[in-house]
Amino acid sequence: MLGATDEGFPPTGTPGWKYGTLGHSTEAITEAGGADANGTCRALLVTKGRSNSGMGQLTRRELVKRAGLATAGIATGGVAINALAPIVAPERLHVDVNDSYWSRELPQPNPPLRASIEADVAIIGGGLTGLSTACYLHQLLPGKRVVLLEAHRCGNGASARNGAMLLPSTADRYLQPSAQPTIDRRLHELTVGNIATLRTLQTTVGMDAEIETPGAVHVLRSTDDARNAAVDAIRLTDSGIPVEHWTREQTAAAIGTHAYAGALFIPAAGQLHPGKLVALWKQAAAAAGVGIYEQTLVTQIDEGATHSLTTASGNIVRAPVLVLATNAYSSALGYLRRAAAAVWDYVAITPPLTASQLADVGWKSRAPFDDDHTEVYYLGLTRDNRVHIGGGPVDYVFNGGVPTPDRLVERHRRLHAALVRLYPSLVDVAFETGWAGAVDVSLDASPAVGRMGRNDNVYYAIGYSGQGVNLTSVFGRILAELIAGHDDRWQWLPYLNRLPPYLPNEPFRWLGIRAECAFVRTFDR
Ligand SMILES: Cc1cc2nc3c(=O)[nH]c(=O)nc-3n(C[C@H](O)[C@H](O)[C@H](O)COP(=O)(O)OP(=O)(O)OC[C@H]3O[C@@H](n4cnc5c(N)ncnc54)[C@H](O)[C@@H]3O)c2cc1C
Repeated sequence: MLGATDEGFPPTGTPGWKYGTLGHSTEAITEAGGADANGTCRALLVTKGRSNSGMGQLTRRELVKRAGLATAGIATGGVAINALAPIVAPERLHVDVNDSYWSRELPQPNPPLRASIEADVAIIGGGLTGLSTACYLHQLLPGKRVVLLEAHRCGNGASARNGAMLLPSTADRYLQPSAQPTIDRRLHELTVGNIATLRTLQTTVGMDAEIETPGAVHVLRSTDDARNAAVDAIRLTDSGIPVEHWTREQTAAAIGTHAYAGALFIPAAGQLHPGKLVALWKQAAAAAGVGIYEQTLVTQIDEGATHSLTTASGNIVRAPVLVLATNAYSSALGYLRRAAAAVWDYVAITPPLTASQLADVGWKSRAPFDDDHTEVYYLGLTRDNRVHIGGGPVDYVFNGGVPTPDRLVERHRRLHAALVRLYPSLVDVAFETGWAGAVDVSLDASPAVGRMGRNDNVYYAIGYSGQGVNLTSVFGRILAELIAGHDDRWQWLPYLNRLPPYLPNEPFRWLGIRAECAFVRTFDR
């Protein structure tokens, strides 16, 4: 079903079943972990791109890091409050309903779980991570009973609320040459290979997710950054990550706006219809025999050699392996709070543009683009010529809350203003609809995947930091391989069995993110 487009997949040899076969020596990762000396409160970057714009003597990254360190200092001073906060004021378990434009293409939800059941693997969360993990598990461990529990319907979360950009690499390394060029290249190849896998999946399942790869454009505002980017493009390309440097004129010719000083163009990237991608994976999972229970909120996890998951209706799912594919909602279940914060981002979409409106916009390349703001703006063009724009100022609501309707209206108004700044001809084109989605942002924008828990049988993937449309199914495959005992294949991965730098609890989290956003809004103009 899934393509073998890059090294080592499907795995050769006899698939193993980790439980009862392989041990695991990685240190257990616990919620109680103390402040990470290496990276406490580094920049909270809601970014799909590099962020190196100049701010006089002090770079934004340094500024933000200083803000983060100050917050860490306060948090350390209040260590008892930090430790007690989740116990005294736990997050409310609430999963908001997706009403995005993309959600119109989500399939009808399956019936909820109506009885207590047993399974070999229980997956919580019906987004791209959960669904792809289920599909790969079927391929690696046929015959195992895999169940997936989803609070509302598959695609309820970020997977069908996003900006539709299909990008290579991970958020922390995207277009940023790191000190590990070989790893950068492997990640690039792995994720580009996954785009090919998604195309194969479309063909095999016979469903169109509107995947296209016209490339993606990372636009740069300042002349200095645009000039410096030429050097990065050469370095990246030389290290096996093809990237083109575009001048101001090339950028304007491709995307129709003269707002930018230049760009980096990523030929391997593209875009898709997020709702249709979820539908595709759901169809593949259903065909593989995965028991998909929707409208089934998991309210409690009792960990053990066999886990016991309680649902809102009181039914119990018992399974020796648990996969947390709950993304930004994980902390409400008491997991991975220290790894990522749920930061709200906003997206809105126009009706289909007429031929003459489209000609006025002049977005000839059709390639989606994002900018180099820390609170990035990202735009795309759908197959039926709707323009969607997301990003701008993000929100964090105290203790994992949800933004108010007023806030949505205000953020969508700002998105429209941003759209008109780029494309003045769209001034009279109102949005058809807009929505919000929670992004699981880690402090250094790095994702994490692995296993944890007293019995080493809780699997997780988190911290995509706004760059998960492609990465989710890469991590779904990795999760399945870890469950099957193929850890050896992923030892090179810098995100394996680790968590991003420590994020403090409330009220420090709220204070830190507020301070961070204030810094960014002051300096990141
Ligand atoms: C506004 C926005 C724009 C973005 N833009 C892009 C982009 O352009 N490109 C890109 O690469 N990435 C983008 N992302 C990120 C990307 O969408 C995510 O990284 C990715 O979809 C995460 O998928 P997931 O399956 O891990 O999580 P989700 O899709 O969030 O799935 C988690 C699921 O778990 C369910 N759930 C939660 N708690 C429970 C529970 N207790 N019981 C049962 N079910 C539960 C939820 O209902 C949800 O369906 C964006 C994200 C947002 C929000």
